[in-house]
Amino acid sequence: MKVTVLGSGTCVPSLKRASPSYLIETGRHKYLVDCGSGTLIQLLRAGHDYRDIDGVFITHAHSDHISDLMPLIHALVAAPGVRRKKPLLIVAPHKAITFYQECLLFLIRKPKGFVIETLIPKEKIMVEENMLYSIKTIHSDDSVAYRFESSSGSVVFTGDADYSDALVDFSRGVDILIADCSFPDEMKAQGHMTPRECGILAKKAGVRTLVLSHIYPVGVSDDILLRQCSSVFKGMILIAHDLMEITP
Ligand SMILES: [Zn+2]
Ligand SMILES: [Zn+2]
Repeated sequence: MKVTVLGSGTCVPSLKRASPSYLIETGRHKYLVDCGSGTLIQLLRAGHDYRDIDGVFITHAHSDHISDLMPLIHALVAAPGVRRKKPLLIVAPHKAITFYQECLLFLIRKPKGFVIETLIPKEKIMVEENMLYSIKTIHSDDSVAYRFESSSGSVVFTGDADYSDALVDFSRGVDILIADCSFPDEMKAQGHMTPRECGILAKKAGVRTLVLSHIYPVGVSDDILLRQCSSVFKGMILIAHDLMEITP
């Protein structure tokens, strides 16, 4: 398993951090977790082909997490010479599915030659030979975290989420925890975590590698985020940056 950070940022435009998106590669398959604006460009920068994406897992229907879903489908439908055969799986909360269906109806031709399968996140879904788990998070009315498990490792994406004991249980023993670390400790915002809260989550859950991501451009250095987090969590901590590759 390999995870590539395509976007470690937020809804705020930034030349350093694109909007949220991550690529999971496992065996022959490639999946996106979230698809914020710039995801398709970031995929190109990371040396991947958008046509190879097998599925997209959306954490919630905030625009920084879903904006490039339409361009992805549009490209698969309209790019000259593209004849996609394999289905595209979209796992997303109800609002995001509705958004996608309305956009598809009004903005994009219905795909020919391939099927788009839509699924609402459930506690447990089999995706090819892998397991995808989800849990409701404290953020918006439809926000979820995902846990992806393959034979070569496991990873949790909190999506946008505040700290909760349920998230600790959900992340228990995972190899890689990619956590919402929107603001430093002194700027705590409801519905998001601080470096210290990410550290507590990782420590209680006993994760191997903690990756701080979804970082707002508020002029705080990576060193400060790292210091605040490592005061609690003594394991491996990475500050996400765009195009970073992480293996279990
Ligand atoms: Zn967000
Ligand atoms: Zn959000």
